Amino acid sequence: MTFLRRCAGFLLALSEWFRDPYIGGLSMFATLTLGGCVAIAMAWRGAARTVDVPLQTPWVMSGGLTGVALVGVGLSLFAAQVRRKQAARRRRTLDSMLDQALVVLAAPSLSADAESDSAMVIAGAGVYHSRDCRYAQRRGLKRMKRSSARVLKIRPCKVCRPSQR
Ligand SMILES: [Zn+2]
Repeated sequence: MTFLRRCAGFLLALSEWFRDPYIGGLSMFATLTLGGCVAIAMAWRGAARTVDVPLQTPWVMSGGLTGVALVGVGLSLFAAQVRRKQAARRRRTLDSMLDQALVVLAAPSLSADAESDSAMVIAGAGVYHSRDCRYAQRRGLKRMKRSSARVLKIRPCKVCRPSQR
């Protein structure tokens, strides 16, 4: 049973991996590059069949130049895609660092003067809960004032509705 479940999980992860536009783009650009290599090889074969230069020229012009262009375009798009992915990862890291910094900056004002216990909520990265919500029992959530959660643009949970208490 657990083996089957593990297999299903693996297949799901694999299909998600292929649905990733990053992987799709990379494989398309790799195909372009490969097609260019095939064109170059075909041009080579065609040109090598004869020693007559006027007969070799069309092979080199149509096959060889097309192949070189395809390889160039494929490789440069491949590199651009990789650079875009890296830039996106850097942005994500920076965003999460900023989020953490905001939480740290907001922290002293919350726990120190807990004006009333009912104003305290349990907050994650995106949603905050009342203390008795079943979703508030997860690990990694922090206690803070409701007003701080609002300042941090954390949304109230739709199950326990901590904003209406
Ligand atoms: Zn909740």
